Amino acid sequence: MTPFDYPPIPLIRRHGPVGYTDYDSFRPWLRDEFTFRCAFCLRRERWEPDRGVFEIDHLRPVNRFPGLAVEYENLIYSCTACNGAKRAETVADPTQVLTASAVTVESDGRLTPHTIAARRLIRQLDLNDPLFVQWRGRMIRIVELAALHDPDLYASLLSFPDDLPDLSALKPGGNTRPDGIEQSHLRRRERGELPAVY
Ligand SMILES: [Zn+2]
Repeated sequence: MTPFDYPPIPLIRRHGPVGYTDYDSFRPWLRDEFTFRCAFCLRRERWEPDRGVFEIDHLRPVNRFPGLAVEYENLIYSCTACNGAKRAETVADPTQVLTASAVTVESDGRLTPHTIAARRLIRQLDLNDPLFVQWRGRMIRIVELAALHDPDLYASLLSFPDDLPDLSALKPGGNTRPDGIEQSHLRRRERGELPAVY
């Protein structure tokens, strides 16, 4: 297991906020939906000193699909590196294409795709760029060493953020999936259901 292992099954979105007129208003929903990490490369908020590393990306770019600018299903939580690599391309939804069975994370940090769609997305996002691979391999090793020798460091690398968003306090113009609030990370933490690390 590494922190770069993709989820076993494609994401089924829990949230469905509607009615916002600017896409940044979706940020707390997207943080929660994407488990506080980049949907493409799985870089985590916890690893960065500045939340500004995370942006809101449009799967289908605004310049060609202006009607989807504030459409929740078109929004993805992405780090600046992945958002920059993607540019204005239309790409497949990483939460559907990058799954554990579709991508093997090698111990040196390389990603080995097993499907055509995963191979294409990895290429489009430069996820096997040598510097990216080097960074991923280094993070895998740091987490391995922390697991063996430094439980506090391990917990700080892999725990959830302290400031889990309270989605029930937000005022969407509507919510097509209101039940998602109960499945949000804050609610799960309050019920004692959230694991210490992920
Ligand atoms: Zn990324």
